[in-house]
Amino acid sequence: MRPVVVLGATGSIGRQTLEVADRLGVPVAGLAARRAGDDLARLADRYPRATVVAVAPDPDGHDRFRRQYGDRYAPGPAALVEMAQHPGSTVVNGVVGSAGLESSIAALEAGNRLALANKESLVAGGELVMAAARHGELIPVDSEHSALFQCMVGERLPEVSRLVLTASGGPFRGRDREGLVSVGVDEALAHPTWNMGPRITIDSATLVNKGLEVIEAHFLFDLAFEKVDVVVHPQSIVHSLVEFVDGSLKAHLGVTDMRIPIQYALTYPQRSPGGFSRFDLTRSHLTFEAVDRDAFPALDLAYAAGRAGGTVPAAFNAADEVAVAAFLERRIGFLDIPAVIAEVLDGHEAFEATSIDVVMEADRAARRAARAAVERR
Ligand code: MG
Repeated sequence: MRPVVVLGATGSIGRQTLEVADRLGVPVAGLAARRAGDDLARLADRYPRATVVAVAPDPDGHDRFRRQYGDRYAPGPAALVEMAQHPGSTVVNGVVGSAGLESSIAALEAGNRLALANKESLVAGGELVMAAARHGELIPVDSEHSALFQCMVGERLPEVSRLVLTASGGPFRGRDREGLVSVGVDEALAHPTWNMGPRITIDSATLVNKGLEVIEAHFLFDLAFEKVDVVVHPQSIVHSLVEFVDGSLKAHLGVTDMRIPIQYALTYPQRSPGGFSRFDLTRSHLTFEAVDRDAFPALDLAYAAGRAGGTVPAAFNAADEVAVAAFLERRIGFLDIPAVIAEVLDGHEAFEATSIDVVMEADRAARRAARAAVERR
């Protein structure tokens, strides 16, 4: 199997990718993380053949890595992009944030397989990434998109009438707007079914995450926003569905374990046993309900951003990142998150997303606007 390069190696996706790679016997050719800290050093020691990149090392960490790893180590964003171009590899992009965009494009343009878990790549740079995907191979890792991808195997796009993304509904499912006014950070971090990093957990509670996934699905499968739906499914067993022109639905079901879609992205078109736990159909009770769009306005904001296109989805994502950070620092309330995003989108000067620079400039402008909106609260 092709060697794997893990961007965001110390994060949740990265650690699970390494576990899968070890079990499959896939060689690890590259490891990248934000900091040159103990977590990355442990991995660098465990995979002595891998090159090591720290995107934003502090001076002490940088000196230590230089001493310890010599030529195996390189710092900075350009080194991340270079690592993504490692020939003949599968690049797992689990970087958090818009820093993942450039490396996604670089991986695809180098002809690599991109196992994509970085949402910002498709949200902020969907057109650029899908253009680059013509040179390489793009396999989604996010559970919903992996499910859609798997339902699409052997099917023809013109025969798809609708994609249905499932949402767990997060910890606040069933609450109305009133009931969300005073929710705290700890409550919002307690996700009922998936164990993930802090930003994506908050994004699941606001449904921003589902909004980002709608935009991703639009680009990945080249379908209009009218053909991308969301349904709340609290058990998170049905990972998503595809509806066809004859009304047939194909669903992907399974236990909530990110190692499964990660493994599929590494082994596609084959499957491997993996020893994962099985879902017991006879003990199941699967329910579906509509999203409360009044309590969770972020979802419609995402649709609006997606339909507006150009740099607007990038602004949506950047505004959310700033708002979530402010919420986690207890500087704004839970309902301020969609309010900050709405304010930023209102004032955003949109451009066509013609280059990474244009997208990144929109990202920076939206961050400035979001910080100002946070200050005003
Ligand atoms: Mg997801």
